[in-house]
Amino acid sequence: MMKQIIDRLREKHELAPDEYRVLLTMQHPQDVEYLICQAREVAQKQFGKGIFLRGLLELSNVCRNDCLYCGIRRSNRNVTRYTLTREQILESCKLGYNVGFRTFVLQGGEWGEERSQWIADIIRDIRQGWPDCAITLSLGEHPRETYALWRDAGADRYLLRHETHNERLYSLLHPHGMTIQHRLQCLDWLKELGYQVGAGIMVGSPFQSLKSIVEDLQYLVAFQPHMIGIGPFIPQHDTPFAHFPAGTVDMTSRLYAILRLALPQALIPSTTAMASLSPDGRLRGILAGANVVMPNLSPEENRAQYSLYDNKASLGAESVQGIKALENELATIGYHIDWSRGDSPTARK
Ligand code: SAM
Repeated sequence: MMKQIIDRLREKHELAPDEYRVLLTMQHPQDVEYLICQAREVAQKQFGKGIFLRGLLELSNVCRNDCLYCGIRRSNRNVTRYTLTREQILESCKLGYNVGFRTFVLQGGEWGEERSQWIADIIRDIRQGWPDCAITLSLGEHPRETYALWRDAGADRYLLRHETHNERLYSLLHPHGMTIQHRLQCLDWLKELGYQVGAGIMVGSPFQSLKSIVEDLQYLVAFQPHMIGIGPFIPQHDTPFAHFPAGTVDMTSRLYAILRLALPQALIPSTTAMASLSPDGRLRGILAGANVVMPNLSPEENRAQYSLYDNKASLGAESVQGIKALENELATIGYHIDWSRGDSPTARK
């Protein structure tokens, strides 16, 4: 019966809620292995054994939001706040370009609109300096006009995890005033504006239920994002969720596999949180159908300050300095780096 459900997901790209639930709870290792193998096969059919790279630039840990899970939340007084200068950002892009990166991801805490023009100017500088590169933003929720300003400046892609589609869970993870409705509105705007868009969740976040994960799967299938950002929740010691357990590599890999079968062409990173939880986390994500890795391109002295969660991996194969190590690691499972831009096959031209 498991095999039938998995085969149907591979063929039809969606399932009924109860069937997702079955895949999320199945216990027999052979069933899980079958799911993972099917997903790996589909990923290889779409993308071969090449893994796309994105150079991750953590622009700033200053944030106006107060998400309960996040180490750079506004009310955490124990973080030394930083914002990279324009020069540092461009210097990092230069370093990344010379190593071979063709996508830069500008991620950071959420700022007020007074900084939007500054970001637009930097996007323009990057676009001019490295015209053959893709520029991805991950800067949170903003008015439609701001997203349009950045798109006009040359941004191609936007990552905005919806975090959870379940209204009640969303309100348990976020402060009063943040709503899932507005998050989804932002995702719709981004799509309308022609960005390649990424949505996604944390796996194993406090209070998360199977029901809410099923709702997330249904939302992702309906929304059809170009990218899917999913990683395990990991507690950070200065947050209200410091004492909650982390999500697992197992469940996250299982979700990569389900989503690979549901959205065969999606770009799915094996996220830093996977590598942070376990030395083989990144490879297990890839073997379950992920096809992107995002090495850290931020100046080394700032990486520890971008402390979303404890024990974040930012060195070795998780960084621009460790590309050789990453290549070697991928080779152990017969994969290699694909140095192209790695646009979504479904992106609007
Ligand atoms: N401010 C932007 C936003 O809200 O999309 C981008 C930065 S935000 C820190 C990037 C992502 O980090 C969030 O979407 C969230 O899923 C993830 N994150 C934050 N805290 C985390 C934690 N404790 N464990 C795992 N992931 C976490």
